[in-house]
Amino acid sequence: MPVHYDFIAIGGGSGGLASAQRAAEYGARAAVIEPGRLGGTCVNVGCVPKKLMWTAASLGHALEDARGYGYDLTVAGHDWPRLKAARDAYVARLNGIYAANLEKRQVAWIRGAARFLDAHTLAVGDEVLSAPHIVIATGSRAERPAIEGAELGITSDGFFELAERPARVAIVGSGYIAVELAGVFAGLGSQVTSFVRHERLLRNFDVMLAASLAREYAAEGIELVPHAAPAALARTAEGLELRLQDGRRRGGFDCVLWAIGRRPSSDALDLGRAGVACYDDGVVITDKYQATNVPGVYAIGDVTGREQLTPVAIAAGRRLSDRLFGGQPERHLDYALIPTVVFSHPPIGTVGLTEAAARELYGEAVRTYSAGFVPMYHALTDAKRRVDLKLVCAGSEERIVGLHVIGHGADEMLQGFAVAVKMGARKRDFDDTVAIHPTVAEELVTLR
Ligand SMILES: Cc1cc2nc3c(=O)[nH]c(=O)nc-3n(C[C@H](O)[C@H](O)[C@H](O)COP(=O)(O)OP(=O)(O)OC[C@H]3O[C@@H](n4cnc5c(N)ncnc54)[C@H](O)[C@@H]3O)c2cc1C
Repeated sequence: MPVHYDFIAIGGGSGGLASAQRAAEYGARAAVIEPGRLGGTCVNVGCVPKKLMWTAASLGHALEDARGYGYDLTVAGHDWPRLKAARDAYVARLNGIYAANLEKRQVAWIRGAARFLDAHTLAVGDEVLSAPHIVIATGSRAERPAIEGAELGITSDGFFELAERPARVAIVGSGYIAVELAGVFAGLGSQVTSFVRHERLLRNFDVMLAASLAREYAAEGIELVPHAAPAALARTAEGLELRLQDGRRRGGFDCVLWAIGRRPSSDALDLGRAGVACYDDGVVITDKYQATNVPGVYAIGDVTGREQLTPVAIAAGRRLSDRLFGGQPERHLDYALIPTVVFSHPPIGTVGLTEAAARELYGEAVRTYSAGFVPMYHALTDAKRRVDLKLVCAGSEERIVGLHVIGHGADEMLQGFAVAVKMGARKRDFDDTVAIHPTVAEELVTLR
């Protein structure tokens, strides 16, 4: 006999935990199925340990900057193993907190990997579970290229296992994970070479952000190799050697990190037995209510192929449970204008359309305002990391449809501006807001 629940989340990551806990708060009998550590990608091999590494690298920059402010500092080095141990202990504490939270809300944690037997029945090892409502929240996993020697490289998961700082690192990829890890390695003292398939980093971001980051990374000594499609990876006496499709070879690396994209984790679920439709790449197809084509089966988070961000998975999961158990039949996540931060050095904050996308959508009715400057923070430092910012406005009312910032403080600045943009702020509303001086953020309300 199957054990029966009102709601089952497959996956104990950001989306699965959030949806099951919200369902339980409404009185539903809920379960989470998770074979690994609770918290999923974000807590174990994503946002959380990444942000700690970013902070470590940022402190390295701050120590340099402090000299300009009169500090007489001698930095004896950086202890990567000590940082890793402290980071891992913090993550383990979070794993414990997540388990305690499930217990507090009486959400069952079934340890193991789930697969569908039919649309409402799941197998986890020898256990059989059933529920009228099942949400697929199995996330995604880092891809490796299908080339010879790919196994000699690591992915972002392997980054968090590195016991020592590698001296010479190659990063293959141009997305946000690639640039974040490049900044961390460089900030902690590695020599970094960044290989990108096309011309530039961060192709899906506003061109101003990409250009500005490329300039900052070049100043920091990160080498950018454009038009670099990998053909093979080999171990030589000098270290790892990356062979490119056009015949170029670059060697001498201690670590090669693939950051070429992520693939939805849906292949082990036996979705066919439930009749759940997905695309060829494994993305589970959902409507705006996170419903699949099978009544009672839903999907949230990375596996749905939408914005791959923790707060997106959490928000979609909570809203799903609000709808199913909270008497809010129309509740769903609006995927428009989702803000995001890239934890590069310096950080990037962005919400809404790039200038290019806005011009495609609104044509001549687009007007942009931008500025670039060295912030006062760097007035007394040797390094001069610039700030660049841009507002993209559309229509006669100059509604702000895109806001992009790179530079000191961009990470903490964006959330409040995202509220304004989401509420439909116009350029005039920004102009009418009194500036806070002296800050970087004030430039966004004084652009002309
Ligand atoms: C290096 C890196 C940095 C990131 N940084 C950020 C950031 O700064 N900010 C941000 O918002 N996002 C960040 N992300 C993205 C974020 O981690 C994901 O978008 C988020 O974790 C997605 O949540 P999810 O619930 O869809 O999946 P996950 O959190 O990945 O959870 C899926 C869970 O499902 C489990 N699972 C898989 N198959 C099965 C099965 N068959 N049965 C049972 N369980 C299964 C997995 O073990 C996993 O624990 C980062 C990601 C990476 C890789």
